Parts: sequence; C-alpha cells; structure tokens
Amino acid sequence: MKVALFPGTFDPLTLGHLDLIKRGSALFDQLAVAVMTNQSKQPLFTIDERVAQIKEAVSGLDNVSVITAQGLTVDLMNKIGADYLMRGLRNTTDFQYERDIAAMNEFLDDQCETVFLLAKPQYQHLSSSLLKEVTAAGGDISAYLPANINEALRKRLEEKQLMQVEKDNEKTR
Ligand code: ADP
Repeated sequence: MKVALFPGTFDPLTLGHLDLIKRGSALFDQLAVAVMTNQSKQPLFTIDERVAQIKEAVSGLDNVSVITAQGLTVDLMNKIGADYLMRGLRNTTDFQYERDIAAMNEFLDDQCETVFLLAKPQYQHLSSSLLKEVTAAGGDISAYLPANINEALRKRLEEKQLMQVEKDNEKTR
C-alpha cells in the first residue's frame, strides 16, 4: 500500500493546496495531510481551526486524512507508515527550498522519498500569505479559496483589524 504525507502550514489552505491533495489522493492509496507547527511563522488560524477547515474541504476524498504534528517530518512518516513525502512546486524559489529540505530528509532517513507535483498554472502565483494580504486590503480572492475558508479568513481579518483599532484608540486616550 502506498502511503504519502503532505505536510504544510496551510494558514489557510488554498485551492492550490487542494488541487495537490486531489492529485495526491488519486496517486496514493492513503494520503495524510499534516498541519505542522512552524516555529518561524505566526499563524492567523490555530492548528485546530486549520484542521477543521481542511477536513471540511477534503470531505469528499475517502483516502485523505488530516492530522497535526510537530518536530521532524521523517519521524512522523515512520510513525504513520508513510513511504512518500508529497510537496508542491510553484516556481524556482520553491524548487531551491524544497530541494534542500528533500536532501536533508533523505540524510535523516534514506527511506524518505519526496515526490514533487508541479502547481497547475492557474495556481502558481498563489500563496497563503499573498491571499491574506489581499483580503486584508479589501480584495476579493474567493476564486482561490474553498468557500468555508474564504468566509473564515474574511471574518478573522475583520476581527484583527477591529482589535488593532481598539489598541490604537487606547494609545491615544
Ligand atoms: P510550508 O510552511 O510547509 O511551506 P505551505 O502551506 O506554505 O507550508 O505549503 C505546503 C506545500 O504546498 C508546499 O510544498 C508548497 O510548495 C505547496 N504549495 C503552496 N501553495 C501552493 C499552490 N498554490 N499550488 C501548489 N502547491 C502549493
């Protein structure tokens, strides 16, 4: 049985990520999407929120599960019995970054086989951070997000902006 792991931050999951998950679900017998704690990123959504959002988005895909983890990806792969690590490539910047990570994972565990899927042209310019930036500035990017996530993102950014206004008001009092 071919089991693959697709780890990421998914803050939030975009249609680019979802396209990769659908293609991975057709390629592998089982695909585990792992929402990883990334120490170097300050996420907008909690791990639990992201897991719930992704579960809703992949609900039609029977061989896809959603888990959370921290620490080494190769340890997680051994824990869940995954042979393949799936990652996406949008551009040469991704390639250089992902190539180093793949080499490091192979150094840590020579059984770890990274499989790269090229992003579809219509999603190559998408990143979670760009979508957050455009939404915060009032742009409509609903074409690039699952509906539940688009709504959650809009709400969260509104809350954040309100909190910022309150903070600024406090400072001037
Ligand atoms: P990480 O912090 O691990 O990079 P991300 O959520 O940013 O987490 O990305 C997870 C994976 O999804 C990475 O392999 C990334 O290259 C890929 N990815 C991100 N955006 C897209 C997209 N628009 N199309 C295809 N793959 C993507």
